[in-house]
Amino acid sequence: MLILLFYFSVFFIGLAFGSFLNCVVYRLHTKRSLWGRSLCPHCKKTIVWHDNIPLLSFLVLRRRCRNCDKIISWQYPFIELVMGLLFVFSIWQLNNQLSVISYQLAAPTSVEYAGFILSVFKDWVVFFTLVFIFVYDIKYLQIEDKVLLPATGIVIALSIIIAHPVFGDPVSKFMPLTTQLQNLGIAIIIPVLFFILQYVITKGKGVGLGDTRIGLFMGAALGIWYNVVIALFFAYIIGGIISGILLLKKTKTLKSQIPLGPFLAIGTLIAYLYSEQIMSWYF
Ligand SMILES: [Zn+2]
Repeated sequence: MLILLFYFSVFFIGLAFGSFLNCVVYRLHTKRSLWGRSLCPHCKKTIVWHDNIPLLSFLVLRRRCRNCDKIISWQYPFIELVMGLLFVFSIWQLNNQLSVISYQLAAPTSVEYAGFILSVFKDWVVFFTLVFIFVYDIKYLQIEDKVLLPATGIVIALSIIIAHPVFGDPVSKFMPLTTQLQNLGIAIIIPVLFFILQYVITKGKGVGLGDTRIGLFMGAALGIWYNVVIALFFAYIIGGIISGILLLKKTKTLKSQIPLGPFLAIGTLIAYLYSEQIMSWYF
């Protein structure tokens, strides 16, 4: 019962972060300050707190602004729900990991628990950034560095801290710190070089330089080269299939721009969550 309540609170934290993400997307694009109350994008009226509860308000208001009756985009509840589920998933995964560790080895110390909390925090920053890239690139065909670059810095810092053996991450028990840092460096260089090369070969038509900065983030988040390869593989496969469908349905032509960012975000998410399982299919 208590565990359900706990998961429910985590779900709500995720919803709140999703709501914040929607707000960041809107305010960065319209160059508004991140502080201050939310406005309806149509009538600009301040939204009262009880109409601003993630997911619930959308259902209660039946997709419409209370003041001007204009329809609220599906983006809002969708992003909130995705973030809620991802947050719950990361805690659930950690819980599984913890029970395996306590079963095989001694119960984790309090310092090791601190390490687990840091790794959950890293998960959340990664999810937030990937979902942000996904939405922003689809909506505005742009990469917003104000989110991407600080997030990359935070994720690199957290990865280096968590890699310290004192935190008892299962990986760092078997792998020296220097090896892990080398892995991180290589994981960052591979996608960045990959995109720069593509940029030079296609003379900037295939990928934008924004994608290179997403590559930086991918390497930082995924931490080891084969995770990056898995992410790129899924990004290009899924991107190819979706572009094919859009071309067939004639909603896009060969000349229209289909952004790569959302597919890179999906590929990175798949590799981030499932790379261990995917690797174990083959090795
Ligand atoms: Zn309104």
